[in-house]
Amino acid sequence: RLNKPTEGVRSFSTCPRLQAVMQAWVIDHYGDNSVFRFTKNAAFPSILYPNEVIVQVHAAALNPLDVNMRGGYGAATMAMKRDPLNINKSGSEFPLILGRDVSGVIMECGLDVAYFKPGDQVWAAIPPWKQGSLSEFVVLSANEVSHKPKSLSHTDAVSIPYVAATAWSALVNTASLNKDNCSKKRILILGGSGGVGTFAIQLLKSWGGHVTVTCSQNAEGLVRSLGADEVVDYSSGSVERKLSAKDKFDVVLDNVGGETEKWASALLRPWSGAKYVTLVTPFLRNTDRLGLADGMMQNFVTIATKAVKHLRTGVHYRWGFFSPSGSALDDVSEMVDAGKIRPVVEKTFSFSQVPQAMEKVEQGHARGKIVVTVV
Ligand code: NDP
Repeated sequence: RLNKPTEGVRSFSTCPRLQAVMQAWVIDHYGDNSVFRFTKNAAFPSILYPNEVIVQVHAAALNPLDVNMRGGYGAATMAMKRDPLNINKSGSEFPLILGRDVSGVIMECGLDVAYFKPGDQVWAAIPPWKQGSLSEFVVLSANEVSHKPKSLSHTDAVSIPYVAATAWSALVNTASLNKDNCSKKRILILGGSGGVGTFAIQLLKSWGGHVTVTCSQNAEGLVRSLGADEVVDYSSGSVERKLSAKDKFDVVLDNVGGETEKWASALLRPWSGAKYVTLVTPFLRNTDRLGLADGMMQNFVTIATKAVKHLRTGVHYRWGFFSPSGSALDDVSEMVDAGKIRPVVEKTFSFSQVPQAMEKVEQGHARGKIVVTVV
């Protein structure tokens, strides 16, 4: 993945680089699904840094984050990431393009990009402060991009990057799990039937972990087909009681949040380094509500208080976050091509149906991913 200086910007021969506009679904202000606007005049992305690439989007996928961002979630933190010196006036993020997953073809590479060349088939999870994939082209840092699995179409591949990068960050970086230490571990996934859960089950099973999953009764067949060892229906009876009757766990990955946080850490094996990692955190809500400085202070106080409280009971409490990583996706790509991980696509929509696709995500009860074909 070393980037070596090359002789110049390299473009795909058919690259429409000179065209200044492209088709995209944009929003001009935050709100409900009616804010979506299709345009043929969205600004064509430019390479501003030598390590960037332009990708022609073949397929995009949606996540709960897209629905939340459409409503303004995380706006304060994203504004800071886009414009750290606070030079631009408020609202400068519009027209905003959502969509965090991309599978497509490299059209153009910056001067320092050596790992990719125009024409390469790639996939990526796009950081939320960047313009997204509900468009014909997207610009990314090369270190966020990876060669897509050869065995998958763009439509199937695109269901994986964002949930894979999130699960990888939470399980590998935060919970310290990896292919060499998973075999004797008992892992509980709260909320196994959605995007993150269906990926996390497969990753952990391919590393030899013992995986218990909570989901609705009608998702049991799906999570079992992905390898879950034990499945607990949360929709009838007390899920806490059912899980308490089982052996203690080494890691809990919480994709549900809310009430679960009150009891789930008690399911961990105490004084053994066991970790509770939740993906449902108040981090961005605090900065939205209190502003950046006070919000970050509130976040620090909350996480520190909870971490200390849990340490007293012999377990570790952590917040997990999405983290873009081309190299993690390289590993995932190999696992997909080796048949260890498969895409779980619930429904595919055409590019003209983006509002309907978003509505489907908003309805919840996901069984894998919602995909949008662009080309
Ligand atoms: P999805 O919407 O794809 O999946 C959520 C799943 O949870 C659905 O299948 C739903 O099905 C199931 N579910 C709902 N309630 C429960 C419950 N009480 N017990 C068990 N299962 C339940 O979401 P993702 O997998 O993409 O993301 C999961 C969570 O993680 C979301 O809240 C998301 O915002 C968050 N997230 C956070 C990130 C971060 O950086 N911190 C990054 C990515 C995601 P059903 O309702 O039918 O049971």
